[in-house]
Amino acid sequence: MSMVPLNLLANGETGDYLVTGSWSQKAYKEAKRLASIHLAADSAADKYYTIPERNTWDISKDAAYLYYTDNETITGVEYPAIPEVEGVPLVCDMTSNFLSRPFDVSRFGIAFASAQKNFGPAGLACVVIREDLIGKAGPKTPFLCDFKIHADNESMFNTPPTFNWYMAGLIYKWIKKKGGLKAMDELAKERSNKLYDVIDNSGFYTNPIDKKIRSRMNVPFILKDDELNAAFLSEARQNNLIELKGHRSVGGKRASIYNGMPMEGINALIEFMQDFEKRHG
Ligand SMILES: *Cc1c(COP(=O)(O)O)cnc(C)c1O
Repeated sequence: MSMVPLNLLANGETGDYLVTGSWSQKAYKEAKRLASIHLAADSAADKYYTIPERNTWDISKDAAYLYYTDNETITGVEYPAIPEVEGVPLVCDMTSNFLSRPFDVSRFGIAFASAQKNFGPAGLACVVIREDLIGKAGPKTPFLCDFKIHADNESMFNTPPTFNWYMAGLIYKWIKKKGGLKAMDELAKERSNKLYDVIDNSGFYTNPIDKKIRSRMNVPFILKDDELNAAFLSEARQNNLIELKGHRSVGGKRASIYNGMPMEGINALIEFMQDFEKRHG
């Protein structure tokens, strides 16, 4: 988030931002501290439950890039497709849905993701960058924040986290063995659709996000009755279903179901949710 403006806006250029949730908002805030930034669209007024319509985006003339977050991890909002924009490089934070569906790399200036959601242990990030965007850092850009230093040294200018690289390599092989990114996408859709169906058909659980932009990776839901929150979590825990508490900024519940989540996990959660509803609904 810091490296993007430190590399692409070092000579007074402007970067445009689509703010559709807490991660893009963080990136926007950080960039604003460092460079000239323009807010192209913002869904804060909708509690970040929506993605502003394409025709409302205010992209500045000569923007050096347009930044967005492909999957907003906390509210569970995901772009259904790569945004259609012309003449401006897209910069995308794919941290929470990287390698969960095929994507056309050629559409991006930069696509980046840190590892710990979909491809490895924390401590590693993958940056895919168009070659002509390398080498634009300014004289005050710290050298470890300069994409060129990393590119020229094959990501080994400083000591890389070798264990994490190794683990990521194993996961890449696992993804290939499972059928690659198309298979990851199909599994992600199947997992999330199963959960959304249970939520939508219940009258007890709700999810406020429009079907078209619901996340395949993070499924937040709220219980009809706030008083049942604690019971839900403790009973879930007794069934070995953990980490279901929603992010503190939005409350409720959240099932984060990244590449590594097997269908058995979804089925177990569904069984528990339906049973809990029967007993408390
Ligand atoms: C988790 C997350 C991050 C932060 O990753 P860190 O490696 O903890 O900095 C950034 N962006 C998105 C979309 C995320 O979900």
